[in-house]
Amino acid sequence: MELPKNDLVKWTGGNVSARDPETGLVVIKPSGVPYEDLRPQDHVVVTLDGEIVEGELKPSSDTASHCYIYRHRPDVNGIVHTHSPYATAFAAVGKPIPCCLTAIADEFGGPIPVAGFALIGSEAIGQQVVEHIGRSPAVLLQQHGVFTVGRDATTAVKAAVMVEDVARTVWLAMQIGTVQEIDPADVASLHQRYSNVYGQ
Ligand code: 13P
Ligand code: ZN
Repeated sequence: MELPKNDLVKWTGGNVSARDPETGLVVIKPSGVPYEDLRPQDHVVVTLDGEIVEGELKPSSDTASHCYIYRHRPDVNGIVHTHSPYATAFAAVGKPIPCCLTAIADEFGGPIPVAGFALIGSEAIGQQVVEHIGRSPAVLLQQHGVFTVGRDATTAVKAAVMVEDVARTVWLAMQIGTVQEIDPADVASLHQRYSNVYGQ
């Protein structure tokens, strides 16, 4: 519900999943159900190979890709996919979001990378995500949208909110001038402070 609330998706677009670290099972949004109609029991529980173990509905079209990411990233227990408009505009033209704001250095530790194009329905999207995301919690998927990862679903949702927020600011900045990238040493310093010192 955080996805429509934060204007990251419309109607049935996008999806969220979480892996239970104890069982390794993955719970994922059902395919093509409007967010406001979703009930907890509508979500589908699958194995890491995408086999359904619980649920009446068809799982998300991106299930095989979510499972591929979990299999290749033991540190990841939450995945979010959106078509949030400003970030997806960068994806449409295949441009990374440059690291030109402290908020980008803090949250992403560098530019937000772009993965290649992949058709929906197989694990091809997952392969692109794993290949291009690096240590960033977010990657743009060429001509499609955004994938974010986190240690849990909430962390991945937060990254999805932050991607759209910075994409919008960078897009606005690009209308009035040329954005300037932050020096990589400063990016590293900002990212380490935000990751280890910031907050309570
Ligand atoms: P699902 O409703 O099947 O999750 O599909 C939404 C989507 O964005 C596919 O990439
Ligand atoms: Zn999508």
